[in-house]
Amino acid sequence: MRAAARGVEAVRLPDATFRWDWWPENLRKDPVDKGIRLVVLGTTLTLSNNLSDWLELALCLVREQRPRLTVSATIEVACWCDPDHNMHVVRSEERLVGTATALTEAFESAADAVVRWAGENRDPLVHRTAAGLPNPEPR
Ligand SMILES: [Zn+2]
Repeated sequence: MRAAARGVEAVRLPDATFRWDWWPENLRKDPVDKGIRLVVLGTTLTLSNNLSDWLELALCLVREQRPRLTVSATIEVACWCDPDHNMHVVRSEERLVGTATALTEAFESAADAVVRWAGENRDPLVHRTAAGLPNPEPR
């Protein structure tokens, strides 16, 4: 898992800060509300941001009913809908795991997805168009 995590860190933009956020207290909780995700570990890589439009990759572990966790990798873009939803997940890979072995495999797979996506197109317009979402008016 550490090697996979280092692989994710390596695809950040030059000069971009990087960190993993960690909420170990969420490991001891059970989700009670479907609308609230108990994130245990996560990071976000901003690969495009011109202040009005952006694209980010995220990898996180979310607490489900114990002992399960969801491992997810996502591509997220700015929303240009009316009304504004702030952001949209345009691609994702999620796995529900319940053992240490499955967690390791799912984390490595999610990290591979993030690394692979970082090598693909970083234009949020391309991803919104592919997802059937509205784009900003051309200037
Ligand atoms: Zn939207």
